[in-house]
Amino acid sequence: MPAKKKPAAKKPAAKKAPAKKPAAKKPATKKVVAKKAPAKKAPAKKPVAKKAPAKKPADKQPEGEIKIKISKKTPQPVRGMKDIVPKEERYWLAARNKAQEIAQSYGFQYMETPVLEDAALFQRTIGKGTDIVEKEMYVFEDRDGRKLALRPELTASAARAYITNGMLNLPQPVKTWYVGQMFRHDRPQAGRYRQFFQFGCETLGERHPAVDAELIVMGYNYYRDLGIDTQVMINSIGNVDDRQRYIVELTGYLRSKRSYLSEESKARLTKNPLRILDSKDPQDISVVEEAPQIIDWLSEDSKSYFMKVLEYLDELEVPYMLSPTLVRGLDYYTDTVFEYVETATVEEGGTGLALGGGGRYDKLVEQLGGPETPGCGFGLGIDRVVLVLKKQAERDELKLEEKGPTIFFAQLGEQARRRAMALIEGLRREGIMVRHNLAKSALKVQLEMANKYNVTHTVIIGQKEVQDGTVIIRDMDSGNQEIVDQRKIANEIRRILK
Ligand code: AMP
Repeated sequence: MPAKKKPAAKKPAAKKAPAKKPAAKKPATKKVVAKKAPAKKAPAKKPVAKKAPAKKPADKQPEGEIKIKISKKTPQPVRGMKDIVPKEERYWLAARNKAQEIAQSYGFQYMETPVLEDAALFQRTIGKGTDIVEKEMYVFEDRDGRKLALRPELTASAARAYITNGMLNLPQPVKTWYVGQMFRHDRPQAGRYRQFFQFGCETLGERHPAVDAELIVMGYNYYRDLGIDTQVMINSIGNVDDRQRYIVELTGYLRSKRSYLSEESKARLTKNPLRILDSKDPQDISVVEEAPQIIDWLSEDSKSYFMKVLEYLDELEVPYMLSPTLVRGLDYYTDTVFEYVETATVEEGGTGLALGGGGRYDKLVEQLGGPETPGCGFGLGIDRVVLVLKKQAERDELKLEEKGPTIFFAQLGEQARRRAMALIEGLRREGIMVRHNLAKSALKVQLEMANKYNVTHTVIIGQKEVQDGTVIIRDMDSGNQEIVDQRKIANEIRRILK
């Protein structure tokens, strides 16, 4: 091995390095060996300084970014479906990671079911008279002539999977969670898409008010942990018989008011009168206000079950609001139904952005040919969580830059590239995230990239450093550089980043 040479006072890297931006006040590094390249001294015409303004909201088109004209030949995404792009990473991962954390902390286990199911699964369970099945479901025949559907929700799939995977043999209840895409051919608008994500939890195999309360508090905590205030809206729609009796009563009342109803509700009168309770049409709202309330038609069992759920929520200090018109519209629900609405949109005078919902479904597994298996669950819309998180970040003027690796690794020359590869691997193993572009050769280009990524430090390795067994660590704000032994990079970076 060649003896280690003393680090040279002048590094080519230091000369070539373009300065990033006016130097922020950083503590001086301990061994400043290479020539400093503070921003002020940098050549005036560095493109980097212009192209990469340090702090900009990620949603805005950054200055100097090339505008790309999209050719007509380029296929567009399907209407109502969108890409999740890297600049949204922090919101999506926050929403997904919190889902996992919450679910696991309550003892739920991960489950994934196919996006395609037999169309009959949803038709039989969600119900034929519902908007989802009648108007929104993507149904098609596959090449074998089977009628399939892209799942519009996941509870029916979860119940199917419970039966087909023999989960009734597991200790009950079986508690599962998932995050996945749902598909509904809805009218696209802000917060409503044709492909959207839900975080869901299902507890199968137990009928107890504590189960319902646990799910409700979980959803509430999910939003709260993400910094989103929600109102829990809650109601009971009783058992199947209660509901049948109530529907007769409700239909009688609505018929007597038929002329006051909107056209859409008139059409629903025979197909799905419960849905009229959900109507946002002002014409319907006044009629619904006077309608008989389902709570008065509950059996003793359903009433006392509901009271117990509310008592547990009181105990857990979950604020809720009784919502007599909340019915959730899907056929499989029984007893408890609930929704989470964003408090801010209620306070702004709106009806409240619906963020998620769920309920009990004690007959669903049986309906699918399984044994008597009660269940309860929720589905929380992740796209809407992301919308709210973004809105909050903008309101609070939080910096929206991508949060990613804080170190860039630049290399000069073939030998250095090889060494860099190995060193980067080592850093990753140490849990240090590194950005780099090993396909680039010019240091200037790499430092420009480092500036664009907004990293605080760049590790530089050239021919000389390969021989010396060192690297240069450059502070991107001050331009200060220090030489570090290759074996100590991870420690040095950790020290610097502290
Ligand atoms: P639902 O079971 O239909 O009430 O859906 C539960 C949650 O999923 C809703 O509260 C929304 O947050 C979300 N969601 C439902 N439909 C859509 C959609 N078309 N686009 C985006 N999110 C949706």
